[in-house]
Parts: sequence; structure tokens; C-alpha cells
Amino acid sequence: MINFVFIAPPAAGKGTQSKLLVDKYGYNHISTGDLLREEVATKTTLGIQINEIMSSGKLVDDNIVLTLLKNKLSSVLSENKPFIIDGFPRTPNQAEMLTNCFNELNVDNYKVIYMDLDYEEAKKRVLGRLVCSGCGKSYNDMVESLMPKKSGICDSCSSVLSKRSDDTEETFKDRFDTYINNVKPILNYYNDLNKLINIDASKDAEDIFKDIETYVTEVR
Ligand code: AMP
Repeated sequence: MINFVFIAPPAAGKGTQSKLLVDKYGYNHISTGDLLREEVATKTTLGIQINEIMSSGKLVDDNIVLTLLKNKLSSVLSENKPFIIDGFPRTPNQAEMLTNCFNELNVDNYKVIYMDLDYEEAKKRVLGRLVCSGCGKSYNDMVESLMPKKSGICDSCSSVLSKRSDDTEETFKDRFDTYINNVKPILNYYNDLNKLINIDASKDAEDIFKDIETYVTEVR
């Protein structure tokens, strides 16, 4: 199976699509946001510094993120499962860092999925986003098809749903602007490498998944 790198604006549904790939095909989901949040949870000096940067909506230092990613990727590769990288690269420099990292780890069998979503739709999804404290499933109280059956409660495990602390209107604008400024050269970079796939992320999650699925077993 092919490995994926997901590139998308905040709340385009990377988490949802990753979960579908994990459940149906046994992918390993590597989210740099999650890796950083794990580091924050350790409350080390580094964790506290990372927390301040993340809360302001800015990007964490490239080398810190790359180190966390590389460690995780190495352990995933040893399990021989396909992987999805979610949240990296966010800058052209990170794209080159990832290519070097893949070269070092002998990874060539991958495609970069660009989930395309405009500002207003992304904003609606971010401000309404709710995440389950138990199983991590995502919902949205502003998008009809993504609402939980019972308000504030997870359909799957009945745990309480909560908002992420960085999902505010102020940090959203910063995150989206940073994203747009950085994403265009990254897309050009992967297009030149013949690795880029464009997906329309304004569709329903099931339809996006159908599009992505057509590439799962593609031979490079
Ligand atoms: P996410 O969960 O992907 O929305 O990421 C949440 C936050 O983690 C971002 O706003 C950044 O502060 C930080 N972060 C995640 N991935 C990266 C990355 N590749 N480079 C720098 N910072 C990152």
C-alpha cells in the first residue's frame, strides 16, 4: 500500500480521513500536532515552550518537529505498516527536510494528498469543531453532517466532547494565513516531484474518502 502525506488547511478533515484509512486499511496515523501535544503533556521545559508557541497559533521550530516526527516514523516503519503523515510539511523548508528524512529511511512509495478548502468553509469547520475526550473522534456543531447525535456527547464511546484550546477566531486567522503563505510553494515542490494529488475537501467525508481510496493501492 502507498504511504500518504496530507496537506490541508485547519479542519479540512485530515483527522477524519486518517481515521478512516487507519480503520479500513491499517494505516499508522502520524500527526505532528498530536506528537507536539504529547510533548506538552509531559510538562518538561521543552513541553512548556512548545505549549506557548502552539497557543499563539505560530509554528514550532522545524528541528523540534522533525526530531519528533523522525523518531515516530522510524518506529512505525519497523512495524511494516503504511503510514499517513498529517501536519508536516507546513513550510517549503519542511518539505525538503521531509524528502531528506524519507531518503535516509528509504521511503519512496508515497503520495502527497492536498485537501483543498477555502477560508470561509475552513473557518466554519474550525469554530464548530468538537473532539471526543475518550476516543478522539471529531464532530462539528456548525456542519449538519458532522453533528453528534446527542449534543456534547460522542456517538461512539459516550465521552464528553470538547473544543481544542487553539480553535478560536483569532488563532484561526493566523493559522490560515500562515498556511496559505506557505502551502503554494510546497504544492509546486511536490508537483515537480510528481507526488501531488488534489482532492476537493468541501465534499462530505464519505465522498472525500472514496476519492482518497482510489490511490491506496496505486503503484508508484
Ligand atoms: P495541528 O494539530 O496540526 O492543527 O497543529 C497544532 C499546532 O501544532 C500548530 O498550530 C503548530 O503550532 C504546531 N505544529 C503542528 N505541526 C507543525 C509543523 N509541521 N511545524 C511547526 N509547527 C507545527
